Amino acid sequence: MMMNTPLTMTQMIKRAEMFFPKKEVVSRTETGIHTFTYKEIADRTRRLASSLEQLGVNRGDKVGTLAWNHHRHLEAYFAIPCSGAVLHTINIRLSPQHIVYIINHAEDRVLLIDPDLVPLIEKCQDQLKSVEAYVIMSDSMELPETTLSPVYNYEQLLENADANYQYPDDLDENSPAGMCYTSATTGNPKGVIYSHRGIVLHSMAIGMADSVGVSEQDIAMPIVPMFHVNAWGLPFAAVWFGTKLVMPGPYFTPKLIAELIQDEKITITAGVPTIWLGLLKELEENSYDMSSLRGLLCGGSAAPKGIIRAFEEKHKIPFIHAYGMTETSPLAVVANLKSYQKDLPYEEKLDYRAKQGVLVPGLEIKIVSEKGEVSWDGKEMGELCIRGPWIASEYYKDERTADAFQDGWLHTGDVVTIDEEGFVKIVDRTKDLIKSGGEWISSVDIENALMAHEAVFEAAVIGIPDERWQERPLAYIVLHEAYKDNTTKEELLNFLTPQFAKWWIPDDVQFITEIPKSSVGKFLKRELREQYNKQLTE
Ligand code: ADP
Repeated sequence: MMMNTPLTMTQMIKRAEMFFPKKEVVSRTETGIHTFTYKEIADRTRRLASSLEQLGVNRGDKVGTLAWNHHRHLEAYFAIPCSGAVLHTINIRLSPQHIVYIINHAEDRVLLIDPDLVPLIEKCQDQLKSVEAYVIMSDSMELPETTLSPVYNYEQLLENADANYQYPDDLDENSPAGMCYTSATTGNPKGVIYSHRGIVLHSMAIGMADSVGVSEQDIAMPIVPMFHVNAWGLPFAAVWFGTKLVMPGPYFTPKLIAELIQDEKITITAGVPTIWLGLLKELEENSYDMSSLRGLLCGGSAAPKGIIRAFEEKHKIPFIHAYGMTETSPLAVVANLKSYQKDLPYEEKLDYRAKQGVLVPGLEIKIVSEKGEVSWDGKEMGELCIRGPWIASEYYKDERTADAFQDGWLHTGDVVTIDEEGFVKIVDRTKDLIKSGGEWISSVDIENALMAHEAVFEAAVIGIPDERWQERPLAYIVLHEAYKDNTTKEELLNFLTPQFAKWWIPDDVQFITEIPKSSVGKFLKRELREQYNKQLTE
């Protein structure tokens, strides 16, 4: 038999400190770009754990963070779970009402807050039921003017902390380490708790060569916020592996992303498609050296083929398309080509790589429709169900658990196909599928086709009620500046005609200046539907 040593996060930060003390974390904060070694980060992390203990944080207590991607947030990522408490990363872009809901629902005892986000919490502090202390994470040793109370300065806490603090060595690998809430398109956000074991195994999965292959050799920059599924687990894995990390900080622009990639020689970076659309535009307008990049990891929404092609053909930047969700830690499926697919013509390869890809080792999937499990033909649609050691088994204190978790499987709410090679393709979220004449139309497929047109910057397709067909597709389009005056609906619809069955072609196209986005940068189709209904009633 084998030893049953616990898979806890303390080993991750300890490894960085012991084996990679010289490796660096580059952090952009409100005052500029700063560099720390892992030795310094590990020391500061221990001090933070000691400070939290002094503030009365006990094992199992939730500590919330409202922060951008920077070194202090990284320290919190380890200090909180390694001391036995629970890291609750709060999505700062949620509505104030949802922020209050999740802080109260999680029962956060302490909040760590970036200076620019203090006003957000000041406005709702009267409604917070469990918070006993606020810590402001700024570069300054001074506290800003604030009505929050009791309030502490992060750097001062660290200065007065116990530098010899030791993490408890009896943490249970199944105890809670972190929690995130989904951004909730309807109802209140749903909470997911990550265990130490889940985070350790998910980090291993990120390091596998057949998934994202993050390693010590990389220089990693998570653009995806640390409040969006733990920046997809990159900070955890990077610290464990001794990977140099670059944290882009608050209010970054496409220009800043391009500069950081160039100056810091980033090898792997991660974000949602809207981030990469912005970067693409920047690369069209100004020239940068992007040659250090070995992968631009994209997930959260479907990556249109047009974007993948533009990055790869024009800018020689390899694109990695992946799929996951808050409930799956998130990495579940990655679109890496198999060895024998590498000789296929580029277009065929692109077809595979624009799908979400093949299941990561360690997980299991099944795809079910009313008729049972679907066949692997790339056509039959069903709901994707997943299980495995880094998949949530329930929502935190939430009745909606019963809908999504059944018979030991997570029912993702994503409608997919799977082809002969096992490549999963997300057809749509169940609620975004367009039901026309008893058949399904994938809004994602039409959007991706539209975004391959040179005039189109962004496209979102929704189903609108139709007496005869039940629903019909309607396309909302944002045009590139240069094409604004000379692009017609007919031109775009004619562009789609050869690519789809006739009944898939949208009935109408509306030009708008911006597609509404969710708190994590995804197209917010619910708002488009509301806009449409409002137009009808006006
Ligand atoms: P939220 O639910 O708050 O949007 P999540 O990040 O948990 O936040 O969203 C997960 C969902 O995002 C998935 O269920 C799926 O619908 C969608 N998604 C994630 N990655 C992809 C992808 N590569 N392609 C298409 N859809 C994706």
